[in-house]
Amino acid sequence: MSSKRIHNFAAGPAVLPVPVLEQVQRDLLALPGVGMSILEISHRSKTFESILAETEADIRALAAIPSNYRVLFMQGGASLQFSMVPMNLLGAAETADYIDGGSWAAKAIQEARKVGNVNVAASTKGERYGRLPAQAELKLTSGAAYVHMTSNNTIEGTEYKQLPDVDAPLVSDTSSDMFSRPIDISRHALVYAGAQKNMGPAGVTIVIIRDDLLERAATRKSSLPTMMSYAVLAENNSLYNTPPTFAVYAVGLVMKWVKAQGGLPGMAARNERKAQKLYAEIDRTGFFRGTARKEDRSMMNITFRMATEALEKSFVAEATAAGLDGLEGHRSVGGIRASLYNAFPEEGVDALVAFMKEFERRNG
Ligand code: PMP
Repeated sequence: MSSKRIHNFAAGPAVLPVPVLEQVQRDLLALPGVGMSILEISHRSKTFESILAETEADIRALAAIPSNYRVLFMQGGASLQFSMVPMNLLGAAETADYIDGGSWAAKAIQEARKVGNVNVAASTKGERYGRLPAQAELKLTSGAAYVHMTSNNTIEGTEYKQLPDVDAPLVSDTSSDMFSRPIDISRHALVYAGAQKNMGPAGVTIVIIRDDLLERAATRKSSLPTMMSYAVLAENNSLYNTPPTFAVYAVGLVMKWVKAQGGLPGMAARNERKAQKLYAEIDRTGFFRGTARKEDRSMMNITFRMATEALEKSFVAEATAAGLDGLEGHRSVGGIRASLYNAFPEEGVDALVAFMKEFERRNG
């Protein structure tokens, strides 16, 4: 089999920058000056400690993270955060508000309900999550423990352009758009994301948490499983147990690449250009139909449909044969989904647009 790369539109794990893969390959047998592979060294070694510190420093610099926030490297994916957020932050007499804007938000709600009182502040489930709940629709609880939102809905293809206005601490699942554009950390109390879309390989979850929430979490430390406590993770600088060393290393390389591309503003410009090209083709004739409300369209996951499921099936099969992989919509919603994360190259969008035009010419 040839080792030629194809265009990978997968929703995550997803495409990584080629220079990062090349560096991983180059240094895999022996890290320069270390003589051992990143896969083999102790997480307590000076080498790994400096990789961890540098990765954190680059994350902090890229997002201008204020000094009263901690950056934690964890495992268990965003899915574990669905449980950890309420376990650490939701007291017995309190209520947490959740904005139900997509299938992953619904999963977060399901887990939070096992822990405490949840108020669904607004939901667009009845509209198949084709749009985001508007500010005026939010029924927020006064004195809520926190408000939980999902910044980008990976399955339905919607993304917040502006953060909702809330008084309670804002907790955001940014799994599928973290570091794809500038983020105002100071408007959040906690941000979490699995790395496997925009930031690196699967296996590490980035959690950015404000000190006051960490203090709140510390009051629950003794009643939580040790590995589920933000306080324990923070006290041990993400080294309470063995962290996913390789994934942290790879995130570090991706952060250097993002910096070299002009940081988050550079990423946003590039991602907007890619997404607009694809949306322009979707909107060109009506043969393809975007599923998300235009104002809420995601720059990351672009979802669309065709007249019949049979047509969609042949679109995906023919695209795959043409080297355009991973275009099938999430199994729960069907249709087509093109994920255009940070590392997805603009030539791949051009190739998809050309394929769409040709497919329409043959089937329209
Ligand atoms: N939240 C969002 C928005 C996601 O896209 C995903 C994964 N696709 C998850 C949560 C779950 O993430 P994980 O698989 O890392 O647990």
